[in-house]
Amino acid sequence: MSATRPLPDASPRAVRCLILGAGPAGYTAAVYAARALLGPVLICGLTPGGQLTITTDVENYPGFADVIQGPWLMDQMRAQAEHVGCEVVNDIAVAADLSRRPFRITCDSGAVWLAETLIIATGAQAKWLGLASEEKFKGFGVSACATCDGFFYRGRKVVVAGGGNTAVEEALFLTKFASRVTLVHRRDELRAEKILQERLFANPKIEVVFDHTVREVLGGGQPPGVTGVAVEHVGTGEVRTLECEGLFVAIGHAPASQLFAGQLEMNPAGYLSVKPGTVATGVVGVFAAGDVADDLYRQAVTAAAMGCMAALEAVRLLAEEDHAAAHHPISHAEADKIGAW
Ligand code: NAP
Repeated sequence: MSATRPLPDASPRAVRCLILGAGPAGYTAAVYAARALLGPVLICGLTPGGQLTITTDVENYPGFADVIQGPWLMDQMRAQAEHVGCEVVNDIAVAADLSRRPFRITCDSGAVWLAETLIIATGAQAKWLGLASEEKFKGFGVSACATCDGFFYRGRKVVVAGGGNTAVEEALFLTKFASRVTLVHRRDELRAEKILQERLFANPKIEVVFDHTVREVLGGGQPPGVTGVAVEHVGTGEVRTLECEGLFVAIGHAPASQLFAGQLEMNPAGYLSVKPGTVATGVVGVFAAGDVADDLYRQAVTAAAMGCMAALEAVRLLAEEDHAAAHHPISHAEADKIGAW
């Protein structure tokens, strides 16, 4: 793969279309923008490939009769984006100025990009319970990624917190290694798809504890190790201990939109707001696609579709502006007004 990383002292680079995020939304936007000859550049961000790189079996992405692997799907998307001419850059956007066009994006390497249009496809990251003990044992028995860490729990007991698709998939995946998996959910029914629930309940290695929340991660030692989790019944308040050596937190995701706080409208949970039926944000030339702007569907395929929409909207906007510039050249008075001389 031909990923580039600009030198820190490189002068700002101007692009017609800059894409932030290397998940299904970003890569699909890249394919469409590249094929429309916008010469897009895609900044990968912290997790190239996005959430699909920490998932395993993908059974619901159209076009594949056989079960495919999330990381493989993302490799394919990246290869396709590069094949049609998108430049993929391994860097992380750390600052954004959307107050004027071209938009100015500064990256961790020091590289600065000036973008006529910006497609934000930064996705979402795993949420944590917010317990002090969870923080203490992160990386030492507490994880948000069964695919990454499940292997370490061969023959051991683990607890999974959550009730959505992720939690159920993680619990099922962990049965490959763990001797026992206990899923703890705060309600009396799961949010996960029925087909996943059926597999969960049919698996003899899995026990489901409904109506409980994780109150504390228990353990100690140096290096620290987990010995159990204290769970509390949501109705009675009764607390009991579930013995385990690992806790996998799978309670959903939070959008990666912090970079745009105060510049773009977002809902109270931080998802970027777009005009209904479109992917246009309140700033002309800035589009938001995928999980960063979608708290409803949050699927790889819907993210990809939004990436496509974003690229098409960028293409249309730039074409309209090019057309206007060609047919209505800027007057001297206008040029004076914007200081273009
Ligand atoms: P999710 O669907 O939002 O589910 C989060 C779960 O965690 C819910 O059951 C929620 O409980 C629980 N939860 C949230 N905050 C909690 C807290 N503080 N303490 C305890 N429990 C808490 O998130 P997800 O499972 O990560 O899935 C995200 C999206 O990705 C969904 O749209 C999902 O369909 C999709 N996804 C799809 C697949 C697939 O199709 N193969 C795989 C993974 C994810 P409540 O139910 O009570 O709200």
